[in-house]
Amino acid sequence: MADDAIRCDACPVLCYIKPGRLGACDRYGNRDGQLVRVDPHVVLDRARSRGERVVPFLGREQDWDGNIVGSPGTFVTAIGAGTTYPDYKPAPFIISSQVEGVDMVTVVTEGIFSYCGVKVKIDTDRHLGPERNIVRAKGEAVGHVTTSEYGSQMLSLGGVRHLTGGSRREGTVTCDTLLKLCNGGAVELSVEDGATVVVQAGQPPIIDSVREERMRVGCGSATIGMFAKQWFGKVDEVVVVDDHITGVLSEHQAGKLLGVPETGIRIKGRRSTPGRYFQVAEPGTGWGGTNIDDPLSILQPFKTKIAWPRLRVLMVSTTGEHHAYYELDEKLKPVLKDLPPTLQESVARIKENCEPALCTVLFMGGAGGSLRAGVTENPVRLTNSVREALTRVTCGGAPVYIWPGGGITFMVDVKRMPENGFGYVPTPALVAPIEFTLKLADYAELGGYVDQVRPLESILPEQGQQHVQALPRNPWPLTKTPSTPS
Ligand code: SF4
Repeated sequence: MADDAIRCDACPVLCYIKPGRLGACDRYGNRDGQLVRVDPHVVLDRARSRGERVVPFLGREQDWDGNIVGSPGTFVTAIGAGTTYPDYKPAPFIISSQVEGVDMVTVVTEGIFSYCGVKVKIDTDRHLGPERNIVRAKGEAVGHVTTSEYGSQMLSLGGVRHLTGGSRREGTVTCDTLLKLCNGGAVELSVEDGATVVVQAGQPPIIDSVREERMRVGCGSATIGMFAKQWFGKVDEVVVVDDHITGVLSEHQAGKLLGVPETGIRIKGRRSTPGRYFQVAEPGTGWGGTNIDDPLSILQPFKTKIAWPRLRVLMVSTTGEHHAYYELDEKLKPVLKDLPPTLQESVARIKENCEPALCTVLFMGGAGGSLRAGVTENPVRLTNSVREALTRVTCGGAPVYIWPGGGITFMVDVKRMPENGFGYVPTPALVAPIEFTLKLADYAELGGYVDQVRPLESILPEQGQQHVQALPRNPWPLTKTPSTPS
């Protein structure tokens, strides 16, 4: 072109990039008239994580000898590998290796995912907002609250409807939110009619400006079951306040088996089974994920024919974070007292059994058109090969979970991937690394681009490589018998 701009054809945006400038996604640039992927290409080293000496393949003095076999101790990820567009082009790198005498190939590409999102698990009992309510970032709808799990609140963010089905700004903010979360950054989210929460993978959530410390030991009923013996004889009644199931020691099966006598306690809420109550209060960020600050607000007056003066009552939340000790006066009214030393240990034990509260971010995407066509001329064969566990799918070298059924829909824990492995394109869509590893013979069988197979040593892209230590807890992606890891 007249102004020396070059056209990037790595995605449908087709940017014109002037010399020394970057394209709209900041991933490609014009360097001296050449289109280059500007980030380093990430290569995993198994040796480093095992404390062995690393032999850098680019540092080798000798030229490639034509042998297409690479080192099984080095794995070429798709991070920084680049994207191919339109779909019929082979993936940027199809790398050979030999594992236990078997020729393998790994097909790597940075996939453009229009259908993608993240599932966020937030370890807390605190109520973030009603199920199905909209989650916003920077005022835009980016997802919703979905079904909570045991001790955790769950968000579903992103997806094609937020990325491309709403306004331009909704799509851009959604893409930015997903990108930050997947690359390990923190984002502030607000739930309609709910809380504001700062989420970052591997970090505790910050809910309404309060950093969450611990997730609950169990529901109120489970907590009664776990600690009943430790309370027996030291206190007459224990109520474990929980938004899900509030437990009452004297009525619970655990108390019955230990011979705890009736106390005449009466709990507000809906009785489920003996000693287990639903809906003692509204959900909230107070005691045990309820909206209460005063635990007595869930009690009705004690039954006068059963209760007795000086009856000892411990009320505690499912994390042990909140607790209060009462004794009944002559009129059978609870009076707040200091927690006796004999009960301090059991409250501390509840806290001790609560695991640290963390946020977990799983990227979820569907490998469709350009991805599969970049691997084979007959894309459905790749899907079948993945389903039959002949092809291993990894994401930046990390194991993925493949959903059963049609397509290649996978999930990956972003904390198991190298940092900053994700990118974006302004369509908007997320760019995620994906690698397919399989036997060379199987690759030929499914119609792969065998003539494009090349060795590790032959990779000499403009941007160079970045060696990253493989996470020891991840299965090594280059093994002879690929299977779907969990
Ligand atoms: S957005 Fe990025 S990948 Fe797409 S054409 Fe522009 S520079 Fe290339």
